[in-house]
Amino acid sequence: MTISTARPAVRGISTRVEQFTESVIREMTRLAMEHDAINLAQGFPDFAAPALIKDAAIQAINEDINQYSVTWGDPALRQALAAKYQRWYGMDIHADEHVTVCCGSTEAMISTLIAVLNPGDETIIFEPYYENYGPDSVLSGATPRFVPLHPPGPGQTQWNFDREELAAAFNDRTRAIIINTPNNPTGKVFTRSELEFIRDLCVQWDCLAITDEIYEHIIYDGRQHVPLATLDGMAERTITISGASKTFSVTGWRVGWALAPARLAGGIRKVHDFLTVGAPAPLQMAVAHALEHGDEYCRKLSGEYAARRARILPRLEEAGLKGAPPEGAYYVMTDVAEFLPACGKDDVEFTRWLIREVGVAAVPGSSFYYHAGQGATQIRFCYPKRDVTLDEAARRLATVRDTARRLRG
Ligand code: GLN
Repeated sequence: MTISTARPAVRGISTRVEQFTESVIREMTRLAMEHDAINLAQGFPDFAAPALIKDAAIQAINEDINQYSVTWGDPALRQALAAKYQRWYGMDIHADEHVTVCCGSTEAMISTLIAVLNPGDETIIFEPYYENYGPDSVLSGATPRFVPLHPPGPGQTQWNFDREELAAAFNDRTRAIIINTPNNPTGKVFTRSELEFIRDLCVQWDCLAITDEIYEHIIYDGRQHVPLATLDGMAERTITISGASKTFSVTGWRVGWALAPARLAGGIRKVHDFLTVGAPAPLQMAVAHALEHGDEYCRKLSGEYAARRARILPRLEEAGLKGAPPEGAYYVMTDVAEFLPACGKDDVEFTRWLIREVGVAAVPGSSFYYHAGQGATQIRFCYPKRDVTLDEAARRLATVRDTARRLRG
């Protein structure tokens, strides 16, 4: 078929989609591969997933659980989730009413936002934020309003929000707040008192809370994960999102879920159905098995990640890459001001330089901020990696200061 060049230019992408760029995190992974750099950019493990879950997946495939499961999730997985949330957090979840299994928590988040938001609604998002929430809000037609998480000031160890700034962001158009705890990219774990403050605002403004709790089992120094839905008055207005990716080291499987009050679950299920039909059936069976038999594994996970944190953080700091020690999740936002402009004029140039010249990939800080210019002296490292990977990254990063000095002349 020939297409006449005389015809007017074909239409391009929608104005909605024009509003955001491709994911910087995924772009850094591609760049890391191109330059054979160690990938401390995109947060995924480079170690084996537990046999517990892999064996169950193989068995499910061999038993020919290979066709569509129920759109909103195989009953076995929904039952396993209801039991798990009851056992761990005392939540009253009904498999048939509240649970939607999605293709990763990523899809759970976007399906939820599309299901509950109208054009003109506002969402509140703490900034810096996991980059998906921006495009997710745009695609759902809502306008995100950002509230800063401030880096730790003198005498503080953790990123904080100002309660007055948060309260001032709520208004008549506010329909939902997105809370990611443990937090990507800052490592902050919201305290019970902070969550209670958020709860009170949600109740006052009749607003939903949509939580991303994907790092619920990666939490350090004896802290306990507190699902916002467990606070008085929040079960009816919280959509709890999590998934298997981070807990069971299976980021490529794409099995996540949204737990929502019954009046909202139907909407989420509809969006999910028309977006994806369903999550991979045999992998759902494997996740069900892992949830039923994996409590001990989950309890050990934090200790393993604490060891990785202890291995990499001091060496990042020695290399001049200092950040607030994460309280949970597996990221650290580091300050790179001392290397600018010698190794690049901002976070993006510095990260590209680091990948190319030093052989370690990170994510530019600005990709976690909405407003141009913010995050320009920060980069994010992740550490869900084997000791050898972390050691080799540390060895390479140890050269950064000397190289910067040389470049400064
Ligand atoms: N959550 C991971 C990160 O922040 C992976 C992101 C992704 O590529 N989906 O790096």
